[in-house]
Amino acid sequence: MFDYLIVGAGFAGCVLAERLARGSGKKVVLCDVRPHIGGNAYDHHDAAGVLVHRYGPHVFHTSSREVFEYLSRFTEWRPYQHRVRAWVDGQLVPIPINLDTINQLYGLRLSAPEVEAFLASRAVRREQIRTSEDVIVSKVGVELYEKFFKHYTRKQWGLDPSELDAAVTARVPVRSNRDDRYFTDTYQAMPLHGFTRMFERMVDHPNIKILLNASFREMQSEIPHREVIFTGPVDAFFDHRFGKLPYRSLEFHFETKDQERYQDAPVINYPNENPYTRVTEFKYLTGQVHPKTTIVYEIPKGEGDPYYPVPRPENAALYRKYEELAKETPGVHFAGRLGTYRYYNMDQVVAQALTLYGKLAGVPNRQLAAAKAA
Ligand code: FAD
Ligand code: UDP
Repeated sequence: MFDYLIVGAGFAGCVLAERLARGSGKKVVLCDVRPHIGGNAYDHHDAAGVLVHRYGPHVFHTSSREVFEYLSRFTEWRPYQHRVRAWVDGQLVPIPINLDTINQLYGLRLSAPEVEAFLASRAVRREQIRTSEDVIVSKVGVELYEKFFKHYTRKQWGLDPSELDAAVTARVPVRSNRDDRYFTDTYQAMPLHGFTRMFERMVDHPNIKILLNASFREMQSEIPHREVIFTGPVDAFFDHRFGKLPYRSLEFHFETKDQERYQDAPVINYPNENPYTRVTEFKYLTGQVHPKTTIVYEIPKGEGDPYYPVPRPENAALYRKYEELAKETPGVHFAGRLGTYRYYNMDQVVAQALTLYGKLAGVPNRQLAAAKAA
């Protein structure tokens, strides 16, 4: 008899398996319908030997010391500060919009206070910052909004920014200085030997049994267990009883080039009519030295693997119905980006999983949960 059947071997499932086994001596089965662990953060060497992320570029960043220290038990790190350029008006310019973006685009030589004044003169006052359009238009005005955000967002989400929660585009700040980093978190680093190696070390424990190519429905009756932790889509767990929660999907198009370097930045965003949103060259992220290089195009689509919950009020309302049902379902706990329908980064999923572990183990403080029996 296993104590827990954990469904999904991504960040949420692996952290919970590790904590329950190593921290509390529980017996755990970790199953995933895919043929590998790591969930969407899975990486592997492609046919040319280049380390790539199968489900799109993953860059680790967090301001949480406990999350960083927790993961540091399973990996060494390679310091990496992520930088992105956007292809706008025939030029590659920094995104987030900063001083250099404005000067490059408009052929100016403004100082930081002048950039602030420039943006303030264009910003449109909005009574309420409710949508993803409000956030940007109220900071930079309509023209820059249209150049950088409107088309990218319409492609990425299949919705106009005015139909999405403010939090979506608010992920990307606007700066008047020259800082061109995509993130400003305290800890920014990539697992030195890749994400998959980190996950392997995390779940390498005699109390954890891993079953791949194994769906929840198959395992539910085959594996004797006391409780379930479900990290797949919460609406699927309940057979879409209240209707389907919308998720946005992506198609990944990989290309290997017979050259060491392909593009001038780790990621180039295309906020225009191209079918893809961004192109990533993995070697910048991983630091790998290799005579060839592999890039990936991300092409958003409505159907397919559920990658992004879609943050907007009607979806939050539908999710709340599932959340209520989840609370009333004894012996089943939900976690992760799909299990709790939240547009979470990796570090937020780790923090959420540590919190859930704390509750299950009776150690309510997350820091203690991460530390207990380390
Ligand atoms: P997942 O990784 O999705 O794992 C869930 C697992 O459950 C999957 O492996 C799935 O196969 C399995 N599963 C589902 N249903 C079943 C079932 N019925 N039976 C068995 N198994 C099942 N975050 C960052 O911090 N930085 C980034 O740069 C970043 N970039 C991203 C880029 C893209 C394109 C995407 C899509 C996400 C990105 N993220 C990034 C977010 C990151 O991927 C997630 O926060 C994290 O991987 C979520 O982990 P999870 O365990 O909740 O879910
Ligand atoms: N976004 C945009 N233009 C950009 C970058 C981002 O319009 O050049 C918007 C878009 O709606 C995107 C959101 O901001 O989905 C969040 O961007 P982020 O890079 O954080 O997306 P993720 O890496 O999660 O796909």
